[in-house]
Order: sequence, then C-alpha cells, then structure tokens
Amino acid sequence: MSEPLVIVGNGMAAARLVDELAKTALGRYAVAVIGDEPRLAYNRVLLSSVLAGEAASHDIELKPAAWWRDRGVTVKYGSRATEIDVGRRELKIENDESIAFSKLVLATGSSPLRLNLSGADLAGVYTFRDSRDVDLLLALAAARKRVVVIGGGLLGLEAAYGLAKAGAPVTLLHLMDRLMERQLDAPAGELLKSLVERKGITVLLNASTARIHGRTRVEGVELACGRCIDADAVIFAAGIRPNIALAQEAGLAVKRGIVVDDRLQTSAPDIFALGECAEHRGICYGLVEPAYEQAQVLARHLAGRDAAYAGSVVSANLKVSGVSVFSAGDFLGAAGGESLVLSDVRRGAYKKLVIADGRLSGAVLIGDTADALWYLELIRKRERVAGIRKQMMFGRALALTAKAA
Ligand SMILES: Cc1cc2nc3c(=O)[nH]c(=O)nc-3n(C[C@H](O)[C@H](O)[C@H](O)COP(=O)(O)OP(=O)(O)OC[C@H]3O[C@@H](n4cnc5c(N)ncnc54)[C@H](O)[C@@H]3O)c2cc1C
Repeated sequence: MSEPLVIVGNGMAAARLVDELAKTALGRYAVAVIGDEPRLAYNRVLLSSVLAGEAASHDIELKPAAWWRDRGVTVKYGSRATEIDVGRRELKIENDESIAFSKLVLATGSSPLRLNLSGADLAGVYTFRDSRDVDLLLALAAARKRVVVIGGGLLGLEAAYGLAKAGAPVTLLHLMDRLMERQLDAPAGELLKSLVERKGITVLLNASTARIHGRTRVEGVELACGRCIDADAVIFAAGIRPNIALAQEAGLAVKRGIVVDDRLQTSAPDIFALGECAEHRGICYGLVEPAYEQAQVLARHLAGRDAAYAGSVVSANLKVSGVSVFSAGDFLGAAGGESLVLSDVRRGAYKKLVIADGRLSGAVLIGDTADALWYLELIRKRERVAGIRKQMMFGRALALTAKAA
C-alpha cells in the first residue's frame, strides 16, 4: 500500500517536488497537497508579467488539473494547514479536518514584510506576492492612482515597472544607495537606475520612509529627510519573511527559516522542508532555482536513494523592468580577486567578470545576458579560465573557438 505523503503549500517548490517524485518514486506514496491559495500552483515569477500585461493570469499555471489527477495527487487548494501533531503524525486543516501522514513536507514559502511604520495599516497599502495582490494592483493602475513603491530590489522594481506600464504614475523609494544592491555592484546599479527611469518611473535612492500619511486611506508618504510625496497607494516590497509558524508551533527547530539538514529533513524525523521556508546551513534562499535543486534532492531521498543537498550557487537571471539582468557568485570581488569590466552606458550594456585564484568566481551582466548560463556553469564548475581569459568577456562562442585553436 502507498505511504501517505502530505505536502503543505501549493507553490513552486511543491509542484517541482511532485514532478520529481513522479519520476523517481511513482506509486510509492499517496501524495496530498494542501495549499491555502484559491487556485492550482502557478509560476509566481510570472506574476510580474501578469502585472505588466504581458501574460494572462490563467496562462501562468504550472500544471493543468489533469496533470495532478493523472499522477494520483490529491490537491486541496483554498485550505490552510493549521497544526502539525508530530506525535500522532497528523496535519490539521482549517474547518477541523485532519489528514494522517507518514511523511510530511513543508513548502510554505514566505510572506512579504510589512514595515512597522505609522500609517502602514491604512487602506491603500498593498504587497506583491500572490495573484490576489496582482488583481488589486491592476485595479490601482487602471484607475491611474499615484503609487509609491517601497523597496528597490527585484520585487519593488517589478511592481514599479508593471504599474507604470499599466498607466500609474510611480515613485520607487529605496533605502540603499543603489538598486538591487544584493545582486549588483555600483556601476551596474547606476545603469539599471537610468534604464528604469527611461520607463517613466521616478527613482529615489537613500530614501528612508518615515511614515505614511492619510486619515483612512493613503494620502502621501513622508521621508526621514522631511520630503513628502503625494500618493494614493503604497506597495511594500521591502523583503520577505519565511513562513515558519506551523513548524515553530509544532516544536520543530526554526531560526529565520525552518532548519533542515542536507537531506532537507527538519529536526523531526520524516518531516521535511524546502523552498523559501527552509533554512539550510544558515541560508534561506529567496529564489526559485535553489528550491528546484532542493526538490530534486528530496525526491531522490524519499525514493530511498542516496542524495544530499550541499547548498546552491546563487544567481539571478531576470528581466527587471524590461531590462535583462544577470548576477551570480561573488559579483563584488573579494580582496585578492580581479575584475574584467566592459561598460557601454549609451547602449545600456554592462559586463563584469570577477576572477579569483584563476577561476571565474562572479559575474554581473546588464543588457546582453545571452551568455549568462555559460558564465554560471563556469562559476559552478570552478574550472581554470587562463586559456579563455582574453576572450571570455566577449562571449562563449569566441572563448570556445580560442580554446579549441
Ligand atoms: C512577483 C515575484 C517575482 C519573482 N521573480 C523571481 C525571479 O525572477 N527569479 C526567482 O528566482 N525568483 C523570483 N521570485 C521568488 C520565487 O517566486 C520564489 O522563490 C518561489 O515561488 C518559492 O517557492 P516556494 O514554493 O518556496 O514558495 P511559494 O511559491 O510562495 O509557495 C508557498 C505556498 O504555500 C502556501 N502556504 C503557506 N502557508 C500555508 C499553510 N499553512 N497552509 C497551506 N498553504 C500554505 C502559500 O500561500 C503559497 O501558495 C519572485 C517572487 C515574486 C512574488
């Protein structure tokens, strides 16, 4: 008889885990997925495209209903898991239902941070995480509301771009001195800023939000320097927090995320976690690729094979506000390393390769990202690059020709 395997969360990590399990352990488990969003799993990354009017909401579903049915997976969406009874191996779901498991996987993702500011609870304050948020933001843009986006990382830029493209006047506030400081060095951040401004978005750096004004609804945003910006709506895009409450209340070990070992097992036997809710070797990843790598390892482990997750080389290969951006590894360059840089601001192109110990250790690309995956492979494989050093800045084709010659 199949063992009951229950997955909490019906997001990107869960969908990939089921996909991997179907390949490696078909029939071994009776899989049930419990998700609180009112729809089947979708590609969350493409919410930005839905907001920008470049994709329809129904087009971003990861798998159709028949795919889940054909693999014998029970999907219960619109249902929140409320409690794990670790001793009895039972998961409680809202409305007093419960479901027994022999193995449990937590794939609960993250929630957007709401800054603790005066006015943060006014009507007109939003976040950008799920398809319900996108519906609300699209309504704002359609009404041409003046929007302030707080946060100049990936999410804030995507929100700003989508809203501006849909017709809303947008001001983007960022606390730091450059956009996407976790992925970009200073020149790349500066170039991205100018490309974003060309889309009609006002960008304010070193902008610390002091409070949100309004009686019942948002009327404006005040910065710490005293400047006030009139606004009808505010979008918080200033970070995420892993959803750990379910695990924490069940007594599992948690820090920032749910602590897992190299097999993605939590502190309780047969209870696993992956994706944005998990913390592995002190790291909570906020990107899809690590979640997919974890899904592959966990599926192999659940299939009874040897598998261990050693962490991911973090890379971001994105379209930010319509601009292609890639960043991987040690893009700032630790002491002792050297940087090769090619910058063409007028054409909107920037390329930086960081070399340490004769190997490519990091890269940043803006504009032309065609060779991004090749650079990522070089970083991951830690191959020596002396033979292609002169050409590798100009792309894979040229470098490989030189290597072959
Ligand atoms: C707008 C946007 C753009 C992004 N762009 C990129 C990008 O370009 N590149 C990139 O790598 N990453 C991007 N990300 C991040 C990426 O989407 C996440 O890393 C990825 O979705 C994580 O997958 P996950 O399954 O861990 O979490 P999620 O996809 O968030 O899924 C978790 C699910 O669990 C549900 N859940 C939580 N608690 C419970 C509970 N108690 N009971 C039932 N269900 C529960 C949640 O509602 C959610 O549906 C983007 C994110 C957003 C919001």
